[in-house]
Amino acid sequence: MTLDLDTSTDGVLTADTHLIQSFADLHALKQDGARTVIVGADGTMVRDSEGNDLIDGIGGLWCVNVGHRRKEIIDAITDQLNQLDFYSTFYNFTHPTAAALSEKIASLAPGRLNKVHFGNSGSVANDSAVRMLHHYNNRLGRPNKKKVLSRIGAYHGSTHLAIAMTTPAYSKGWDSADDLVHHLRSPHYWRNGEGMSEEEFLDALIEDLRSSIETIGAENICAFIAEPIMGAGGIIVAPEGYHARMAAVCADNEIKYISDEVVTAFGRLGHYFASKDVFDVTPDIITTAKGLTSGYQPMSATIISDEIHEVISEPGEKFLHGMTYSGHPAASAAALANIALLESEQIPERVRTTGKIFENALRGLSDMEIVGEVRGSHFMMGIEFVKDKATKKEFEEHEAIGLKVAQACQARGLIARPLGNILILSPTLILSEEQIHQIAEILRESIADVASKL
Ligand code: PMP
Repeated sequence: MTLDLDTSTDGVLTADTHLIQSFADLHALKQDGARTVIVGADGTMVRDSEGNDLIDGIGGLWCVNVGHRRKEIIDAITDQLNQLDFYSTFYNFTHPTAAALSEKIASLAPGRLNKVHFGNSGSVANDSAVRMLHHYNNRLGRPNKKKVLSRIGAYHGSTHLAIAMTTPAYSKGWDSADDLVHHLRSPHYWRNGEGMSEEEFLDALIEDLRSSIETIGAENICAFIAEPIMGAGGIIVAPEGYHARMAAVCADNEIKYISDEVVTAFGRLGHYFASKDVFDVTPDIITTAKGLTSGYQPMSATIISDEIHEVISEPGEKFLHGMTYSGHPAASAAALANIALLESEQIPERVRTTGKIFENALRGLSDMEIVGEVRGSHFMMGIEFVKDKATKKEFEEHEAIGLKVAQACQARGLIARPLGNILILSPTLILSEEQIHQIAEILRESIADVASKL
């Protein structure tokens, strides 16, 4: 059976007036309507309703790591649904696919991270991490140890708790549970390290952590949460050694380190998990989603250490947490098939080469007049535009520079993601070298085009 849908641009846009887009300007959508309708995808490309084939420069939404329409994953999902469409992992139920996936993830995750709870989004994975730590501290008789340290520039999701941990800019005009969270300084040296060497800037960041702990009290803080590289906050790479030093201070204060690897895991930076392999930190909890299934099914995982699991599985209160779809059979099957592809095609290993080529190709745009900073690593890159290179003067919001460049790219066959003055690239991990250079060329032409009209 195929669904009988109207896929014409007009047909979709008529139906779409009932859809609330996420993180969108609803007023503009109401007025203008017209936007891109994606109707198909294959490999590194997507097709819009006008028949244009576009390079998917954002991998869906930093998630389609192995590329679109991979038969192996689609077949695994179909086979699973034919065998067992749904059963939950509540109470004492389990099923073969979720069990096998938890074992696989435990084998890939660093050292002590051996226990996995599944969710259906990165936001939920992060909520779960904090809820589990709250319960852990209740179990240990530390009922006040509940606050979370996050950072300016962080993105951890948009549920009530996850948005509170996210940088405040993302909840302008909205409420968040901000009494639970303290935001540390952004580790962005280029923007915030004026007048300091990078080492001095790093010292200042560590001092910010120490003094925040002193002010709030270690007895009131359960966790520090950090993305290895900040994503939706604008691709911020912290100074070398930052994560390991932050983790050491946290450990000294019995503050658990949560590494939000929703974007960075499953190959994007050339490894299954970046925290240990790239940043030399073994977190107490890793949260992940996106690349876990390459987006073929909604799924996230909260991977906790044996030590935390020991405490919460002692005799006492039950584990009163979970979602209907935690460990959904089809999502588990998608994840297993996706990981099998990553392994058989050695995608993370290949990214260590192709991702570097991508990174260097984009860094080559640094000579352009309005390009302030090109930053990121491997297949997680951002380009920040500035009005004046010498002073790093920012474009005004109404100038919508990122959006203009993204539109210029799309007209040339590339989807990129605008984020204020920044353009984000997080493509599938299977780009050919030729496509990588094509992307760099499209970016150069598009940036030059927009700059010439300013
Ligand atoms: N953490 C990070 C680092 C993310 O980038 C995102 C989403 N972009 C999330 C959490 C939230 O994931 P989701 O949108 O699946 O809830």
